[in-house]
Formats: sequence, C-alpha cells, structure tokens
Amino acid sequence: MTSPTHIAAGALVASAVALWSERWRKGSRLRVALALAAAALLAVVVHFLMDLAPHYNWVANNSLFAGYASGWYYREGAALLPTAALLLILGGRRFWWVLLGIVVGLYPDIEKLAYLALHIPAQFVIFEWHSQALSSHDFGLSKPLLTAFDIAVLATCLAGVWRLNRRSTWRDDGLESGEQNSPRMNTDGHG
Ligand SMILES: [Zn+2]
Repeated sequence: MTSPTHIAAGALVASAVALWSERWRKGSRLRVALALAAAALLAVVVHFLMDLAPHYNWVANNSLFAGYASGWYYREGAALLPTAALLLILGGRRFWWVLLGIVVGLYPDIEKLAYLALHIPAQFVIFEWHSQALSSHDFGLSKPLLTAFDIAVLATCLAGVWRLNRRSTWRDDGLESGEQNSPRMNTDGHG
C-alpha cells in the first residue's frame, strides 16, 4: 500500500484500541500504557499485512514535481501531510492516539528509507527483513485497478477514524446530558 494508506490504517487501529481502552473508565496508568503498546504493535502488524496485499505505488510513480531531482520525496510529502492533517482533525480529542497510529503505521517505511537511502547501520534497524525487501506485489493486476483499490482502502480508513471518534463523542454527550437532565427534570417536576 502507499504511505497515506499506511498512516490511515495505523490511525484507524489506534482509534479502535483507544475506544476499547476507554470502556474501562477507571483505567490505571498501567492499563493505558498497555493499550498504547497494543495500538503500536497492531499498527506495525497491519503495515506488514498491507505490504502483502496487491498494490501499486501511484503516489511515488506520477508526474507531479517531475522536474525535480528527488521529485518523489515531494510527491510523498504532498500526499502524506494533508492525509495526516485530515486524520488528526477526524481523530478529534484522540489526537495523540491518532498521531501514534500515524507514526507507527509509517515507521517500517521510514526505517526502510533510512536504511536504503541514508545507509544507517543495520543494528539501528528493527525490521531488517522489511527494509531489505522491496514490497511491490501487483499480482498481475492493472495499475488503475490497484490505484482504485489503494484509494478505496484509504477512504475506508478515513471514514473509520471519523466514525470511531464520532461514536465516542456521541457516547460521552449521552452520559453528560443524562447527568444534566436529571436535576432539570426534578426542577420541572416541582415547578
Ligand atoms: Zn512497508
């Protein structure tokens, strides 16, 4: 998958874990730390699973910034930055969870870039097998089809992050209005 899709999937996974951990309202710090670790672990696992899916990197392989020596850096940035900003907006008050999902969801590819382009020593590379392999599996499918598939997954993840955030807001509003309504109803009853 492309980098925007990786960060959106990471944000979705982190949002889902956040929702799950918030169900225990009396959460200890240990429980929050465990939930954060689980979100990071799942975001990495999802990254590797997505690398196995058929994909074509339409973000790096297009003609935008074609006149520049390292044009694909700009292309990746032009796709990544607005997607990350949108995810953080959709994540709302789960900002830090979504940010964790974005960073960890992209981390294996950041590491790969550092390893292949900047030649950092192998001992600093956590996922060496991932950094040494070029993940480009098109399974013989056409580029437009793979591009459409990638964008569909990206859109699904964006919608998922929005929906999970909306769900938690709705739940909290329900609780708060319930608490506020009871005294008001009593007042009305007496009046
Ligand atoms: Zn990867």
